[in-house]
Amino acid sequence: AAKQAGRGAYRFYEASMRTAAETRRSLEMDLRGALASDQLQVVYQPIFDVQQDRLAGFEALLRWSHPVRGMVSPEQFIPIAEESGLISSLGEWVLRTACMEAGQWPEHIRIAVNLSPVQFYNTGLSSTVMSALASSQITPDRVELEITEGVFLQETNTTRLTLQQLHEMGVRLALDDFGTGYSSLGYLRKASFSKIKIDRSFIRGIDSPDGENVPIVRAVVALADSLGMITTAEGAETPEEIHALRNIGCTQVQGFAYGKPMSYEAASALVASMESGTGHAILKPRETR
Ligand code: C2E
Ligand code: MG
Ligand code: MG
Ligand code: MG
Repeated sequence: AAKQAGRGAYRFYEASMRTAAETRRSLEMDLRGALASDQLQVVYQPIFDVQQDRLAGFEALLRWSHPVRGMVSPEQFIPIAEESGLISSLGEWVLRTACMEAGQWPEHIRIAVNLSPVQFYNTGLSSTVMSALASSQITPDRVELEITEGVFLQETNTTRLTLQQLHEMGVRLALDDFGTGYSSLGYLRKASFSKIKIDRSFIRGIDSPDGENVPIVRAVVALADSLGMITTAEGAETPEEIHALRNIGCTQVQGFAYGKPMSYEAASALVASMESGTGHAILKPRETR
């Protein structure tokens, strides 16, 4: 009977593996047509400068609205796009769209765009960026490219050259998801980063004085400071967390407490309300006593 059950469990395992692989294949096929059939959208999440108390910019994030499955998470489709090579065209589309749209906002509003390590395998990345800048007329220092340490795991001459060219073009580079993965400090020297983005996992409990993440975030802020870089804390969900991060000395905060990723129209309305001063009260975190 045990043997039978074991076989049953294996069959179940096999079946679910098959389903996962099939889902993946079908998602990959659908993703190929998604761009042409208007299923993709770039949304924008606000990033606040908590030291100067003003809107610093937005991070562009890709969304896929599947006609049958509904919203598919980037955590699910980005890896598929990377393995299938589709990420190059999707990434270029996000970059062009974000530069074009953010180019309509005031000069001091920056735009951050994620780059996959896979986009660095291609020698054409820096010319793609150059062309996106040229056609949107956005000034390079308003554009921030977010990369993860994944870029350095298979570092080649192409990677090094591309990072150098991007720096020379005048775009900013941010090290995303810092603190996850290997987080070798040596990565901080591999490119001219202007920013460290502290991963969301380090923000939990940041508002309690004896929270275990407090010394870690303090140390990362001090590290960034001494390297002449700024920090963005990702994933602050409460006003108390924003307050604590400001006191620790983080430069910027991004998280649901300030705003979820939103459409271009909503982001533009937020920019306008911040400019006129009316949005301030809504977004300013409640002072904690
Ligand atoms: P990321 O670059 O670290 O982006 C931040 C993620 O954290 C976003 O998830 C954002 O919605 C989420 N987030 C921000 N604040 C909060 C918060 O307060 N609470 C919680 N629970 N989550 C928060 P999203 O949009 O689902 O994207 C997930 C990841 O997918 C991104 O992480 C990035 O690695 C990747 N991704 C998204 N769009 C693109 C893209 O255009 N290109 C590439 N290469 N990767 C992308
Ligand atoms: Mg990012
Ligand atoms: Mg991140
Ligand atoms: Mg991430």
